[in-house]
Amino acid sequence: MAQANSPTAVRSLLQRYGLAPKKGLGQHFLWQSQIVERIADAAELTKEDVVLEIGPGLGILTAALARRAGLVIAVEIDQNLFPLLEETLKGYDNVRLVKGDARQVDFQKLLDDYAPGYASCKVMGNLPYYITSPLIIRLLQGEFHKELLVFMVQKEVAQRITAQPGRKDYSSLSVVVQYFAQPEMVFRVSPHAFCPPPEVDSAVIKLVCREHPAVRVRDEEIFFQVVHAAFRYRRKTLRNALKEGGLLRPGEESVFANSGIAAERRGETLELEEFARLADAVAQLKEGKEE
Ligand code: SAM
Repeated sequence: MAQANSPTAVRSLLQRYGLAPKKGLGQHFLWQSQIVERIADAAELTKEDVVLEIGPGLGILTAALARRAGLVIAVEIDQNLFPLLEETLKGYDNVRLVKGDARQVDFQKLLDDYAPGYASCKVMGNLPYYITSPLIIRLLQGEFHKELLVFMVQKEVAQRITAQPGRKDYSSLSVVVQYFAQPEMVFRVSPHAFCPPPEVDSAVIKLVCREHPAVRVRDEEIFFQVVHAAFRYRRKTLRNALKEGGLLRPGEESVFANSGIAAERRGETLELEEFARLADAVAQLKEGKEE
């Protein structure tokens, strides 16, 4: 069955199954095939690749991925779309449709079940915008082997993910993503490429997973806590931000001298490596207290 490649075709396909787009699930379906092809191209797929797709929707991207990859495991939360997907993906024997919530699915188990012995995978999707940031972090932190992630996200989120220190978009999301991966903005997409069109612009990003995190830290949990506190109180100096965040008590300011990071700086100016030094000094202080 041909994919719905116009807004009219999307609406009539949904109607035929008695469905309408669910706003609450971020259902903005792509219909422009050239955009779909460009997303698939961004992952440089070969028949050796296993793809994990988040939110196949009506299957337009799924089909493009299946034409290029060896196997596509597509996780969709909306059970009502399954009969429709069986129609649009008919003949694509290398697609496995899985009912599930990407916020909770055990990706490692999914890969073991459907692609036993897999070496690595590529994670892709036109993401429902309501889960973008926590999902990307969950995927990056997940233990399963992945090579890269290619996602359509809200343009502002793409800018935050790729932002460098000193830029207004630089945030805890930038630091956490860049700790695990090298992000790249691939191209921007206007709302007209979707049916129904979202109220925001979108962009495709590519995150190439690092073999090891960008910086070595003593304690990853403390590193993330320091980063989050620094940005939660981004208008405050680091001294005050870490105190507000419950990471420093009065008299514990030696962490700044020990790390060589001035207490008067703001988190939004710190490079990853500087966050790591500061977090290590905090971790060392805590280790000393525990002994
Ligand atoms: N891939 C399709 C496309 O490009 O047209 C659909 C993209 S649409 C923006 C997002 C899709 O994710 C929808 O099909 C929606 O039902 C699904 N979805 C929403 N929340 C989800 C979740 N928590 N887990 C898995 N899929 C989800």
